[in-house]
Amino acid sequence: MILIDGKKAAAELRAELKQEVTELKAKHNKVPGLTVILIGDLTPSQIYVRNKEKSANEVGLKSEVIKYPDSVEEKTVLEKIKELNSDKTVSGILVQLPLPKHIDKQKVIEAIHPSKDVDGFHPMNVGNLSSGYESSIPCTPLGCYLLIKKFEPNLNGKKAVVVGRSNLNGKPMTQLLLKENCTVTITHSKTKDLKAECLEADIIVAAVGIPELVRGDWVKKDAIVIDVGINKTDKGIVGDVHFEEVSKNAKALTPVPGGVGPMTIACLLKNTIDCFKRSQI
Ligand code: NAD
Repeated sequence: MILIDGKKAAAELRAELKQEVTELKAKHNKVPGLTVILIGDLTPSQIYVRNKEKSANEVGLKSEVIKYPDSVEEKTVLEKIKELNSDKTVSGILVQLPLPKHIDKQKVIEAIHPSKDVDGFHPMNVGNLSSGYESSIPCTPLGCYLLIKKFEPNLNGKKAVVVGRSNLNGKPMTQLLLKENCTVTITHSKTKDLKAECLEADIIVAAVGIPELVRGDWVKKDAIVIDVGINKTDKGIVGDVHFEEVSKNAKALTPVPGGVGPMTIACLLKNTIDCFKRSQI
């Protein structure tokens, strides 16, 4: 079994992006800028935002974090987004989720101009992705896609099973695999026989949020298995795939941690740079 090292792949991607930022700076005399809006004091969100800022600085992006207390009014956030939409020094805007209950998530997502939507959540980007047009692509599935392609460049005709149908992971992942000419099955909590579906797959992407759901005897020999899950358990952080069992069957597998996670942030930086490049045309 080959371990797909997301940490290494993310470091390589960041190095490429750093080089790209240097070249863009020489050409345009400015660098892409990422602005993150952080609302409230949820510790995981604070950690994610700190990591995003650190990585953005590392590759040479201009980065800014705007913080609001939990009690901030929705209209204050929407006005700030409007201001950032017309700020030429801002290439990408990200509002860290989850939001406090009194703020309408969809309203916030739709307020971000699609050309600055580095999360790829705006309906315009969702539609463009499913139509096969250029778009921002949600960072985690983009990271999964890059890991799969690095390992197996030609996915023509492969059978892929995506476990989970969230807007964040499962659905965009399905679109990316379709674009690569995979035959894709998308499965979810109401799927009748998940094991049987998985046993058909050359590629499995698990994005569920149930610790070690995908077992060793669900995976055929030579499958590529990508584990998106991050689950806190008594034995520490585990994925949605039973690592020990599946590693005995799969051709390649991502670990948790150190698999998809590091690629997610690197892809956010990539999306910011791509938004900048599109804005310079
Ligand atoms: P979600 O809760 O939005 O969606 C989960 C999906 O799993 C749903 O579509 C549901 O139908 C499906 N599901 C639930 N029970 C199932 C079952 N028994 N069998 C098959 N499908 C089932 O979750 P999400 O936001 O997509 O996140 C999924 C996991 O990925 C979580 O563990 C989350 O922490 C992790 N995650 C990781 C990263 C990363 O960077 N690695 C990023 C985002 C999310």
